[in-house]
Amino acid sequence: MTIRTLLACSALLLSACSQTPAPAPEPTETTAPRNIIFMIGDGMGANYLTAYRYFLAEGKQQQIKPTIYDELWTGISSTWPDDQTLVTDSAASATALATGVKTFNGAISVDQQHLPIGTLMQQAKRLGKANGIVASSQVNHATPAAFLAHNKSRRNMDAIADHFFDIRVDGQLVPDVMFGGGLTHFIRDDRNLVAEFQAEGYQYADSWQQLAQLSQAPALALLADGGLPSVLNQQMEAPLQLMTEKALELLAGHSQGFVLMVEGSQIDWCGHANDIACAMAEMHDFARAIQSAKAFVDANPDTLLIITADHETGGLALAADGIYEWRADLIYGVQYTVREITRRMMALEPTELADQWRHWTGLTLTDEQLAEVQAVHQQQPELYALLNGYINQATRTGWTTSGHTAADVPVMAYGAGAEQFTGFMDNIDIAKRIMGFIQLSAN
Ligand code: MG
Ligand code: ZN
Repeated sequence: MTIRTLLACSALLLSACSQTPAPAPEPTETTAPRNIIFMIGDGMGANYLTAYRYFLAEGKQQQIKPTIYDELWTGISSTWPDDQTLVTDSAASATALATGVKTFNGAISVDQQHLPIGTLMQQAKRLGKANGIVASSQVNHATPAAFLAHNKSRRNMDAIADHFFDIRVDGQLVPDVMFGGGLTHFIRDDRNLVAEFQAEGYQYADSWQQLAQLSQAPALALLADGGLPSVLNQQMEAPLQLMTEKALELLAGHSQGFVLMVEGSQIDWCGHANDIACAMAEMHDFARAIQSAKAFVDANPDTLLIITADHETGGLALAADGIYEWRADLIYGVQYTVREITRRMMALEPTELADQWRHWTGLTLTDEQLAEVQAVHQQQPELYALLNGYINQATRTGWTTSGHTAADVPVMAYGAGAEQFTGFMDNIDIAKRIMGFIQLSAN
């Protein structure tokens, strides 16, 4: 047998296999969870889970323990979109996760003909359940948008926000809880969606103090004009966990159960910035939100917790430059995102640069590096690239791209029906199994 024939055979086998995704046990009414908590770490490839494990251990071998991600890990998922790229964006992947249908990059729950595809939250509402979305980006950013809106482009963020209010299922609004950023898309010159939601009986919060006081669903909290501040740059330790706990509190009493989507939106933004300290801070907040969700499942066993990512971002590698070492311990010294450190460095006198850099990163500039920094001290992109490079070099962190990659992503599941999410699957399988549960639990 020639190599060519071998390859042809294995290609055939592969294509035969791809028609039949890993068989999952048939769900039954008795196993169908009443509540579903669907958590999405945007950009969170399996490599981010590895990085977070060694980050938590501060790189010390005797401290390495399974993280909450490791404890819940059950499977792995492919993420390719319905075009020729293999590399999905968050819109196409969120559409797959929200509808069970693949589409093209940029699309928000519409198909190749730009026709709307029904989402699992619309299905849940039709069957009498409540819905919630929580995100550290704008609530109408691509990932949450795909659960509630339909648009040929994720960029049409005002039109997407309009859909949150305008799309009705059997006369009812689809989202019962919406927490995140994005105020500028909800209060605009042409329309005040906040006032419209309030007129429909929604409680409204635009500060963390007011969020804490929300007492019942339906409720809307818009906590920033755009995305929320990066976790690493703010005093608040776990904003996503706070929002998740409040959402669960408000949804818990619903008689028919609920579907809650929680997105760790900015893991992806740190990946695009190739900023490892930023990524670990967002992973930590997401981990804490997962802890709260897991505690909810323990108290309410008719709940499924399912966690995955929409794609991997950055091509993160835990070693670089041929050196057998990843310095997770050094990440702790980095106190702000590289973007924020760059902003602060630009405001300094040239003589202050070396000391402040040590203060903000725990790293020391060599004479050669100091000269490089002084040469581009007032040029943002050049200074940013230099400083980011120093942190990646010191920690031996590699990145292949400022965009996304086609790498598979982890799947984690816990609680009622978790056995449906083991082994290899594709992102649309996850949505199909969730939609199966929603249908069954309403019967
Ligand atoms: Mg997202
Ligand atoms: Zn992205």
